[in-house]
Amino acid sequence: MKNIPFNKPYMTGKELFYIAEAHFNHMLAGDGPFTKKCHEWLEAKTGAKKALLTHSCTAALEMAAILADIQSGDEVIMPSYTFVSTANAFALRGGVPIFVDIRPDTLNIDETRIEAAITSRTKAIVPVHYAGVACEMDAIMDIAQRHNLLVIEDAAQAIMSTYKGKPLGSIGHMGAYSFHETKNIISGEGGALLVNDDRFIERAEIIREKGTNRSQFFRGQVDKYTWIDIGSSYLPGEVIAAFLWAQMEEASTITDCRLNIWKQYHAALESLEAAGSIRRPIIPQYCQHNAHMYYVLLDSLATRTRVIDGLKQQGINAVFHYVPLHLAPAGKRYARTHGDMVNTEDLSNRLLRLPLWVGMNSVENIVTELTGVVINKTITQVIRLGR
Ligand SMILES: *Cc1c(COP(=O)(O)O)cnc(C)c1O
Repeated sequence: MKNIPFNKPYMTGKELFYIAEAHFNHMLAGDGPFTKKCHEWLEAKTGAKKALLTHSCTAALEMAAILADIQSGDEVIMPSYTFVSTANAFALRGGVPIFVDIRPDTLNIDETRIEAAITSRTKAIVPVHYAGVACEMDAIMDIAQRHNLLVIEDAAQAIMSTYKGKPLGSIGHMGAYSFHETKNIISGEGGALLVNDDRFIERAEIIREKGTNRSQFFRGQVDKYTWIDIGSSYLPGEVIAAFLWAQMEEASTITDCRLNIWKQYHAALESLEAAGSIRRPIIPQYCQHNAHMYYVLLDSLATRTRVIDGLKQQGINAVFHYVPLHLAPAGKRYARTHGDMVNTEDLSNRLLRLPLWVGMNSVENIVTELTGVVINKTITQVIRLGR
């Protein structure tokens, strides 16, 4: 029986070549030539005023929390249906994540619930572009402007995606990308902060360089560098940047390839949805996504458990996520909810993610097996039925 992994990191073949170049040139610390190439690529691709590589998306979100000047007790509105780092980066500064429910269609933050959650302590809104599909950014930016709040996009999954033609991560005041090996464009661990508001650029460079003005020093703007603010070491070394550069060069090919697999799933699962057995992802027509993920919604938690087991028996690794953050131990301690979490709790129990990686030759086998378990028949029975 062939084993189909849930994820398999794709490598272009040039990674080692660029790493060797960094090695030969003895350029190993951060902000060398490969980092510069990656910054330029990100700025050209997104229109961000400043792009800065970090060692993870988590680090980029932590930088954003510092730049947003989150103080103890400041509130940050975000979905509960997300990865821990979305909340943790703000909790780390003493901020309080305020969770609101998600929309049932895109599983993104329900923008109609944001305004009611705003208080005098609210500092920022953090939309998470789930599966690389945009949140309702026009509505969110409008709310933020009227209440004088910052918008920090958790675009961890959303590189190469757009909302009404605008690259995700470039719409809010800041945006954060992830290059973790489970994402579309990878460097093992890695990330980037996009700064879209001039006010934050200088401080962003300082925070990333241990609270020093070292970047200005290297540009010859100051004749010595020193400690001038809080900060940490958020920059990756050149070996990581060299790897990432190989990926960036192929970003369009990688995205096209993922979209092709995504579309295969979507077409092949149409009849199962029509039969009422599953729900497929819903993509608003003004959102161009990046095929970060293909998921289906099943009718219950029990079905999902049965389907995961059934697929596993056929060597197919399908997974679920997230445990809603408001139900997690640290979520209860460091965060609060505003309003009910009906969609978050319901959908997170029923969501199933299917394998999607560059190099998968076909989804046919997976769809056949999925169809088999969903309609509660073994594959042999399906074959006997003449499929
Ligand atoms: C992957 C992910 C992160 C964290 O990214 P790292 O690069 O691993 O720190 C944050 N938020 C979301 C929504 C993610 O999917």
